[in-house]
Amino acid sequence: MSAAIHNATVPPQVLLAHYLKALKLPTFSREYEKVAFECAQDQADYPRYLLRLCELERIDRERRAIERRIRQARFPQTKSLDTFEFKAIPSLNKSMVLELARGEWIERRENCIALGPAGTGKTHTALALGLAACQKNYSVLFVTAAALVHELMEARDERRLRVIQRQLDRVDLLIIDELGYVPFTAVGAELLFEVFSRRYEQGSTLVTSNLPFDEWTSVFGSERLTGALLDRLTHHVHILELNGDSYRLASSRKAAKSGRSNSDLAAGDTINSDSKGGETPDG
Ligand code: ADP
Ligand code: MG
Repeated sequence: MSAAIHNATVPPQVLLAHYLKALKLPTFSREYEKVAFECAQDQADYPRYLLRLCELERIDRERRAIERRIRQARFPQTKSLDTFEFKAIPSLNKSMVLELARGEWIERRENCIALGPAGTGKTHTALALGLAACQKNYSVLFVTAAALVHELMEARDERRLRVIQRQLDRVDLLIIDELGYVPFTAVGAELLFEVFSRRYEQGSTLVTSNLPFDEWTSVFGSERLTGALLDRLTHHVHILELNGDSYRLASSRKAAKSGRSNSDLAAGDTINSDSKGGETPDG
């Protein structure tokens, strides 16, 4: 009853703002007056008015969901396929990358491994595929192999390994970057193996590595463990081969030839055509 009195005294706009907030319809709240004005001009009826508002809310909600996915993915920088020069790396199967960007492999819980020496664009490709997956509304987590192992070891010591494992299980696409640069301890290798094992046919994993498969034992220590891991990881797998010269090095050489320092270029005007500002050259 007090609500009714309340309603009688409070302006409808205020109440409406309150209800729309409670109902989590921010776009309705922001747009209803403007859309009402437009609908009056177009002589659109009430159902059409409501429909326009619903459409706007839905579009906005999808955009917010994608932004949230991207934040949760913890990408160290934003890279997309738009800024990737496929011509610079002929060994990379472009059509496979474009197909992977469609995201259906994640639906099928398949894996992807990007192999090649340093500077050939593995991380860029992984970031771009991760971004594409977020845009298809998959949950993604990007982490380096070393950081993941570190986090798992820490969690194990603090008796919260299960929590982390369940978090990882829930991710549609787990991207493990830079496998191979740092060898793991026996415990670290076991913990990482467990991650792969739990994800087998349950979720997609994308791994980048500078090492060919026959050298993975040097990272995991044990031949038996490496064999079992590769068996799971490569059962349903797309392999991207990035064999070629370092893009970084090529950029530096081009810069040197044209008489400019690489740091001038890193300021972002030529060669590395990454349009998204704010990235730092990583090495
Ligand atoms: P990797 O992970 O293989 O060591 P990165 O993906 O980190 O190599 O690439 C090094 C740098 O060069 C990054 O800034 C990346 O954006 C850029 N880069 C590499 N390959 C390409 C390419 N084909 N087109 C555009 N930029 C590239
Ligand atoms: Mg890399």
